[in-house]
Amino acid sequence: MRIELAPDIEPRLRKALHQAGSREIGGMLFAEQLAPGHFRIVDFSLDPLSGSHANFRRDLAFHHEALTAFFQKTGRDFSRFNYLGEWHSHPSFSAQPSREDIDTMTDLVENGSSEITFALLLIVRLRFWMWIDYSMTAFAQGYAPHQARIAKRFI
Ligand SMILES: [Zn+2]
Repeated sequence: MRIELAPDIEPRLRKALHQAGSREIGGMLFAEQLAPGHFRIVDFSLDPLSGSHANFRRDLAFHHEALTAFFQKTGRDFSRFNYLGEWHSHPSFSAQPSREDIDTMTDLVENGSSEITFALLLIVRLRFWMWIDYSMTAFAQGYAPHQARIAKRFI
């Protein structure tokens, strides 16, 4: 699997992290599939209700609204532009997923009532106001979570 970022994603994330300070923020990741297994993250949502690590799971109404807006913007070309996963920040500790993060994401892809069978979890942390630490973990139904890398490294 190959993941890359559209050019404006990293500056937008950095700005959101600056504004949030020590508050945890997050939302959804939206991607364009360039080839099978090759994705470019082209947009992300910023959940207005997020703020506590224990509650990073998105609000369902907001989720639906953000997803609908993305689909409209991309011409409802679902096979090319679609949901890719979740992101959130760890302002005050390592950008690695916590046990709870792994459980929440596993539940998302393994839950029989969910249409989601594959999702990435991107965790970001602003360091020294200049660069971003990150981890990216792929979750797929029936598989153990595994670490993924962004093809073009954050600056
Ligand atoms: Zn977390």
